Amino acid sequence: LWLSLRQVTVAWVRRRRVLSTALELDMPTLVVARIVSIIVFAIAVPIMTLRRDRPETIMFCLALLMAVFSWAAVIPAVLTRNIFLVAIYGGCVTSIIALQWAAVVAMTGRRVHRAWFITPPVSAVAAILLLPITAEQSAIVIAVVLSAQLGAAAVFVLIHGRQVVRPSTAVLLAMGYSVSFVSAMSRPAEAVFLGRIDLYAISGDPSNTWPFFASYIGTTLITLSWLAALKDRAEARLAELAFRDELTGLVNRRALHEGGSKLWHQSMGQGTAFTFVALDLDFFKQVNDRWGHDEGDRVLAAFGATISDAKPKPAIAARMGGEEFCLIYQGADANTVHGFVERLRDEFAAGLRLPDGAPVRFSAGIVQSSVGDDGINSLYRRADQTLYEAKASGRD
Ligand code: GH3
Ligand code: MG
Ligand code: MG
Repeated sequence: LWLSLRQVTVAWVRRRRVLSTALELDMPTLVVARIVSIIVFAIAVPIMTLRRDRPETIMFCLALLMAVFSWAAVIPAVLTRNIFLVAIYGGCVTSIIALQWAAVVAMTGRRVHRAWFITPPVSAVAAILLLPITAEQSAIVIAVVLSAQLGAAAVFVLIHGRQVVRPSTAVLLAMGYSVSFVSAMSRPAEAVFLGRIDLYAISGDPSNTWPFFASYIGTTLITLSWLAALKDRAEARLAELAFRDELTGLVNRRALHEGGSKLWHQSMGQGTAFTFVALDLDFFKQVNDRWGHDEGDRVLAAFGATISDAKPKPAIAARMGGEEFCLIYQGADANTVHGFVERLRDEFAAGLRLPDGAPVRFSAGIVQSSVGDDGINSLYRRADQTLYEAKASGRD
C-alpha cells in the first residue's frame, strides 16, 4: 500500500494517470509482506495460545504450517508451471481451510462429518492430476474448491460461532472467511466473464493484485479473530471458575454480591419489591455423620437442581458456602416469596430421600428491602437473623 501511495504521488506530481495508478499495488512487495506475515503468525499463534494440547489449537497451528508449505510450493509452481507442483500447492492451500474449519468446528463442540474436511483437498489434487488440464485451468479448479470451502466456513461460523465466542468475534471471523471467499471467487469469475486472464501474472495490474490483497486481508482477519476467540473462551472459563459453585451448579457468594447489588439498585430505582432469602439445610451435619460425606454431597447437588428448576425462578440463587444458600426475588414481596419458599421446601422434601427414607428439610429467613436497608449486606444480615429465629423456633 505504501508503494502504491508513492506511485500515486509520483503520478500526481507528473500529472499522469492518477486514478488507474491509484489502484495499482506492488505485487512483489505484497508477496514478501504476506510470507513474512504467515511466518509471524506461525510463531505468534502457538505462543499466544495457553492450552496447546487441545485438538483445535493443534489443527489451527497445522493450518499455519500448511500455509508455509503452500508458499514453498506456489513459487516454483508459478515459475515452472509444473502440474505436480501445482497439485501440491492445490492440496496445501485447500488443506489450510480444511484444517482451520476443523479447528473452528472443534471449538464449537459440534460434530461435522470428516468428509467435509477431507473431500476438498483430495478432490482438488485428484482433479489436477487425473484430468487432462493445464496449469491455468488447475488454478481455476483450486479457486472453485477454495471458494466452496470458504463459503461453507463463513456460514458455519455465523450460525454456530456465536454460541461459544462473543458475537463480535464470530462476525469478525465470518468476515475473514467472506473476504477470502470473494477473493477466491474473483479469479474464476474473471475467467468466465472477462475471458482469458493470466492467473500467474505478477504485474501490479488491479485484476491481479486486488484478489491477492483481499485474500491477504482475509487471512489476517481469520488469524486475529481466532486469537480473539481463544481469549473469549478463556475469559468465559475463568468467569465460570470465579463465579460458579461446582457441586450445586449455582453461582457463589461473590456472584451474589456483584449481581445482587446491581439488582438492588435497579429495584430501588424502579420502586419494585426486592426480597432476600437466607436458607440453611436442617441437621445437615447428621446427614454427613450418619450416611457419609458423599451422601451429603448428593443432597447438596440435589438441592442445587431443585432451586435451578424452581418456578418462578429466583433472579439470583447462590450457594454461600457449606449448606447455606441465598435467593433473591425481584418484583415479589416477602409474603409472596414466603409462598414460593414453602413450595420449594415441600418439593425438595418430596423429591429427595435419604437412604432410610427420611426427607431433608430447610429453614429460611425472608426479608423485603425497606427504607432502613442500604444495600445487599444489610439485607443479608437481617435475613440471617430471621433464619436464626426460624432455627431456634423448631426449624423446617
Ligand atoms: P442446623 O439445622 O442448625 O443448621 O444444623 P446443621 O447440622 O445443618 O448445621 P451445622 O452448621 O452444624 O453443620 C453444617 C455441616 O455442613 C457441617 C459440614 O460438615 C457440612 N458441610 C459443609 N460443606 C459441605 C460440603 O460441601 N459437602 C458436605 N457433604 N458437607 C458439607
Ligand atoms: Mg444447617
Ligand atoms: Mg449452616
